Amino acid sequence: MSIYCIGRNYAEHARELGNEVPAEPVVFLKPSSCVELPRGVIELPQGIASVHHEVELVLRLASPTQIDAVAVGIDVTDRATQAKLKQAQLPWLLAKGRPTFAPLGNFIAPASSGELMLKVNGQIKQQGSTEQMIFSIPKLLEFLSSRFALAPGDLVFTGTPQGVGEMKAGDHIQAEFRSSSGASVLDLKVAAALR
Ligand code: ZN
Repeated sequence: MSIYCIGRNYAEHARELGNEVPAEPVVFLKPSSCVELPRGVIELPQGIASVHHEVELVLRLASPTQIDAVAVGIDVTDRATQAKLKQAQLPWLLAKGRPTFAPLGNFIAPASSGELMLKVNGQIKQQGSTEQMIFSIPKLLEFLSSRFALAPGDLVFTGTPQGVGEMKAGDHIQAEFRSSSGASVLDLKVAAALR
């Protein structure tokens, strides 16, 4: 199973990190081991300065051009490391690929659009509609399938709306994607990694 991720797919989020709105999708991969294990916990690696939440709509592929389910997911990002990698024009894997850095909610039937929301300790931090995406779901699938051998079960994280921010050990994270076909939810604790 491959996890494709789209960066800067919401204009307000691109701006909040000082990035330009891209002319074509920014794509990176996460290892499949990022899907949270054990369930219910985001682990903060030892000695890392700033780990951010990015709430996203996640697509599950049935074929290169078809989605059979969607879920809420969090593209957990070691922002301090990512900033260094960006500056050195290096790949983002070290900032994006740690264990538990891609928690997923329950899968629901696909809908054409919906609302994303993320709360830290009960306070809303991120909120946005998937209608604000710069590259729509059909455009993303077209872009990815023309370049990669997409397989059934592959996941696509579709980018985050504005409001990303830091998580600390002990924080309670709630995230959801709500659409006409139902709700996908996540309820997580943030904990220091033992590794
Ligand atoms: Zn992201």
